[in-house]
Amino acid sequence: MDAEVVVVGAGPVGLLLAAELAIAGVRPLVVERLAAPAEQPKARGIGVLAAEALRRRGLGAELDREHEQGLRALARDHGTTKTHFAWIHKIDPDVADPGRRGALIGQPALERLLREHLSGLGVQVHYGCTVTGWRDGPDEVTLTIESPTTTRPLTAGYVVGCDGGHSAIRKFAGFGFPGTPPLMTVRYAHAEVRDPDLLPPPGRLAGGTLFHDDGVIATFDFADTTPDRSSPLSAEEVRDSVRRVAGVDVAFAAFHGGLRFTDQARQADAYRRGRTLLAGDAAHVHSPNGGQGLNLGLMDAMNLGWKLAAAVRGAAPDGLLDTYTAERHPVGAAVLHNTRAQSALLAPGPHVDALRDLMSDLMDLPEVNRHLSRVLSGVTHRYPLPYLATHPAVGVHCPPLTIDATAPLDELAAGGRPLLLHPEAKQINTGGRVDAIPIVALGDERLAAVLLRPDGVIAWAAGPGEDLHPPALWQALDTWFPEVH
Ligand SMILES: Cc1cc2nc3c(=O)[nH]c(=O)nc-3n(C[C@H](O)[C@H](O)[C@H](O)COP(=O)(O)OP(=O)(O)OC[C@H]3O[C@@H](n4cnc5c(N)ncnc54)[C@H](O)[C@@H]3O)c2cc1C
Repeated sequence: MDAEVVVVGAGPVGLLLAAELAIAGVRPLVVERLAAPAEQPKARGIGVLAAEALRRRGLGAELDREHEQGLRALARDHGTTKTHFAWIHKIDPDVADPGRRGALIGQPALERLLREHLSGLGVQVHYGCTVTGWRDGPDEVTLTIESPTTTRPLTAGYVVGCDGGHSAIRKFAGFGFPGTPPLMTVRYAHAEVRDPDLLPPPGRLAGGTLFHDDGVIATFDFADTTPDRSSPLSAEEVRDSVRRVAGVDVAFAAFHGGLRFTDQARQADAYRRGRTLLAGDAAHVHSPNGGQGLNLGLMDAMNLGWKLAAAVRGAAPDGLLDTYTAERHPVGAAVLHNTRAQSALLAPGPHVDALRDLMSDLMDLPEVNRHLSRVLSGVTHRYPLPYLATHPAVGVHCPPLTIDATAPLDELAAGGRPLLLHPEAKQINTGGRVDAIPIVALGDERLAAVLLRPDGVIAWAAGPGEDLHPPALWQALDTWFPEVH
């Protein structure tokens, strides 16, 4: 076999997954069809959960540095640092779960950071390698890899398609991809309009929404839901779309290309078929509204990395890999659901104008604002774990803790090992399955002790005054890390 795991695609999700595998002791082979890293500006930032996960791997200083610049850019472009729901910019990201924060980092900078992180772990990306074939066997998967000079087979124990929304791996392996077709096509172009006075002010118009600013023009075009995706965005195409949306005919003094995407919302029916798995946009596509795609995909990678590594090492309990779909599919479905609501709120017409006014007023209510902020950040989600755990924090991603121990959580978690943070850690013999760290306090009044999975999910917790040695702690250890016990 050529590789234990092949990661197809070196976008943000493939890079993080490869790093998580390497941290867990499995060296993946990463293939990327581009000849060199992409520099396309897409996402402007990552949400609370992904930012916390990356901080726990020691990438916090870089995130914080980029965040400062990102805040300034957001204020410049939108006149506010609030985030939006359906382009109503009123959501305060800091109220989702006070003390928890995302990071405004542009996608190219994030990918650079992840590439450096991965290369620091000794894994290189093989650029210019496109997967053009896939065959499943009982013990391995065979891929066909095309590079500019050769075509060759590559065998792997597992293959993970992190190859984006048009995923070849998803199609080869026959995953279903049900969902809803687009209501609109978005076109975003870097262009100089020859006579900008012809344009109406940016905003909602008869055919959709128009944005324009110095050197940038964008349309949310509800009259065109089946764009031709075979060629790059052209000036003529943007001109046609501006005509449909705003009813004016503009010419461009300069046109420097741009992006085209729709709001179709689709999700793979499962994230695993035998030895083939999907993560990130390969597993789910939806509109970028609310800025959730990157967060969602990076958290897929965090969830999958340690589980797949355990399967490769032969240390995974029965069914561990299937908990990946069980845990992540509902989170993806929830994101698709709220992006559909946002698309509905972007449709043109007086009825939606009225609905948006109402929604905007509601968003001034702190409880509504907090609810939407929590929905977009994903902090509301709790995984259903397969054992009885009574503490409400079990199954959620652990918030940052100020541990009164030898090292801060970010440092303790950098090695990707499961952690038991417990006042009597020294007396608990976990058989070396987890790092047991004695603590005095966890800096969170709801928590006296926690067992953290490598992805930062609380597998067991006790509150102040509760039994610190209950059967549930051993159930949690045996469920996730049974190998040595
Ligand atoms: C305009 C825009 C704005 C966005 N804004 C936000 C935002 O604000 N917040 C947010 O969270 N998300 C946003 N997103 C979504 C976000 O960019 C994606 O969710 C993210 O890029 C998904 O990462 P990925 O690694 O899964 O896939 P991708 O980034 O698509 O990476 C897939 C990689 O696989 C490679 N590949 C494809 N096929 C093959 C093959 N056959 N063989 C080998 N390699 C292959 C590709 O070249 C690519 O490098 C936005 C997207 C767009 C388009």
